[in-house]
Amino acid sequence: MSVIAGNLQGIRQRIRDAADKAGRPLQAIRLIAVSKTFPADAVAEAIDCGQADFGENYVQEAIAKMDTLQQLHPGARPIWHFIGPIQSNKTRQIAERFDWVHSIDRLKIAQRLSEQRPAGMKPLQACIQVNISGEASKGGVAPEQLAGLAAQVAVLPGLRLRGLMAIPEPAEDFSRQRQPFARLRALALELQSRGLPCTELSMGMSADLEAAIAEGATLVRIGTAIFGKRNHGQDN
Ligand SMILES: *Cc1c(COP(=O)(O)O)cnc(C)c1O
Repeated sequence: MSVIAGNLQGIRQRIRDAADKAGRPLQAIRLIAVSKTFPADAVAEAIDCGQADFGENYVQEAIAKMDTLQQLHPGARPIWHFIGPIQSNKTRQIAERFDWVHSIDRLKIAQRLSEQRPAGMKPLQACIQVNISGEASKGGVAPEQLAGLAAQVAVLPGLRLRGLMAIPEPAEDFSRQRQPFARLRALALELQSRGLPCTELSMGMSADLEAAIAEGATLVRIGTAIFGKRNHGQDN
């Protein structure tokens, strides 16, 4: 078995175990394979192992990879998730090439994505990124500003608001890992009580996916545990 095939089996087992422990149905949790920094043939290999969803955080790199993949694997129709910081001058490519965007954190970006979503495509599935640990260096809207932004995003015609995303500060201890995920879940419930369609929780990475699933993650974003370690300096 190849390394990627073995890693995917291992991750699926971790997700199964965590879902069992939390008493949650496995179908409620979708695995996004984060292929940033890895080439199109790694994506093709994961597709051959039944992986459907892929995450990328640099637009240029992602689009080159999608184009190469089309040549390598013409029949493949992966679902692409944009999970990185969004610059205004990159919104058109995101709107035209991705199925999901997880990292909306201001209205101007959401408006551009909505306007630039091609008319023939389904609305872009959207999560709002929340700066859940309050780190100055991290993207995401402050929790206090979330409800206002969510209400504005929910009515944009080219987007379909689905939920929230967060990248918490790393923590070693399981109960410490759970705290920010619990806060994100509480924020999503609050938005739901206001009638906003925020049922998706995009949270959990290689090191903390069990804690995220325990707190209700519906989209887990896993890179290292599937594709291996990334080279230093290519991460963000
Ligand atoms: C890189 C990245 C991931 C994957 O992280 P791993 O620790 O490699 O699993 C998840 N989410 C975002 C936003 C990322 O940039």
